[in-house]
Amino acid sequence: MQLTFRSERVLAVVAHPDDAELLCAGTLARAQHEGAVTGVCVLCRGDKGRSRRPVPRLAAVRRQEMKASARVLRAALFLGEHPDATLQDTSAARKKLVEVYRQFHPTLILAHAPQDYHPDHRAAAALAEAASWFCASRGCRTASAALPAPPALWWMDTVGMTGFDPAFFVDITPYAETKARALACHQSQLRRAADADFGALTDLQRLQTQARGLQAGVPAAEAFRPSRDFKRARAW
Ligand SMILES: [Zn+2]
Repeated sequence: MQLTFRSERVLAVVAHPDDAELLCAGTLARAQHEGAVTGVCVLCRGDKGRSRRPVPRLAAVRRQEMKASARVLRAALFLGEHPDATLQDTSAARKKLVEVYRQFHPTLILAHAPQDYHPDHRAAAALAEAASWFCASRGCRTASAALPAPPALWWMDTVGMTGFDPAFFVDITPYAETKARALACHQSQLRRAADADFGALTDLQRLQTQARGLQAGVPAAEAFRPSRDFKRARAW
């Protein structure tokens, strides 16, 4: 069986500036290489990811890091600009994300798993799922027109793989290096490796990619579960 992303439009919806780099950057790089148009929508600013040595104007620094990583992945970048630690599934936040979907025209959404560790991730999961339905509803008015159909939705692995039972794996072996280069753009966070409330992101990314690869019989993989909800599931 051969999965191909050719002619897809893949949008990752994540809570924080470096989440896509941990959970789906290899899949985005592979999709882009196979002919898909890819994008990343980062809902929060990253303004509270502070190390013991504070970075002045952190939100602005992280915006530059996001842009650099998006260039590595050749992905369009959309910014939600919500403050960290405040993300909630509200009607205003839904509407903002619905408009992003209507500008990008995704055929596939990659979203945080609903049980992931961080409250912002869980709120992002709820928002990504809600917007995947309302983007195609003509009754939900935003600046752009409703999409002709809801996009498919895949739940991403959790950070650290806790409580996530993969339904399938995407082989990212040729793209693991690109994934690492994308994460390397987030220097303000990589400097937090020794912080007790954080960790070494490069190790986390490498070990999780290898562990999911081990489960799938390849050197490097990312894990997903497809949504089986009405109009969000696909056959291939
Ligand atoms: Zn995060």
